[in-house]
Amino acid sequence: MAGAVQDEMARLNALPDTVNKEQLLFGINQGAVFEDIRIAHAKTISAMDLDGYAVGGLAVGETHEEMYRILDETVPYLPKEKPTYLMGVGTPANILEGVARGVDFFDCVYPTRNGRHGHVYTNHGKMNLFNQKYELDHRPIEEGCQCPACRSYSRAYIRHLLKAKEMLGMRLCVLHNLYFYNTMMEEIRDAIEAHRYEDYKAEKLEGMARGEN
Ligand SMILES: [Zn+2]
Repeated sequence: MAGAVQDEMARLNALPDTVNKEQLLFGINQGAVFEDIRIAHAKTISAMDLDGYAVGGLAVGETHEEMYRILDETVPYLPKEKPTYLMGVGTPANILEGVARGVDFFDCVYPTRNGRHGHVYTNHGKMNLFNQKYELDHRPIEEGCQCPACRSYSRAYIRHLLKAKEMLGMRLCVLHNLYFYNTMMEEIRDAIEAHRYEDYKAEKLEGMARGEN
């Protein structure tokens, strides 16, 4: 990298009190849902030869279809050999669709924040463990899940913890959700390497849409 912004990044990374001296400098694409502005901006930041590129200003209230359309229009103008980051996204389905459009990584509060509200993600959709139908349900959140919650606790017990406002209930839901998201990202990497990402994505979306068991 060379240029004014790169020089400033190098200066900041070299400061004695900089904790992480290997920070990367990303260009962040903006332009709301206007593809002409998005594309012009993508070209401008791509020319700056930065460490990576993010798509910002999405997942802020527009429809999923609008977000996917802007990704379709914009990502092709970002450098393929650099990491592409979709900021603040999203549901498992959003991530699967983002990867299909060239996105490499994501950040989102859903697995943790939704977990704290008793909402858990599974391969058969999202469940709300506050729901009364889980009161006597002694299955784990997801059969076969190897997370610390599913290996030892039932839906009924976790629901009881949540209803009693016992902090362990939130923690178990968050543990499961983080495990679910991390496992999905592993599966995505494996499917891409095996050249079967489209099939994987279709199967995963179909299972999640089928609803809980
Ligand atoms: Zn689990």
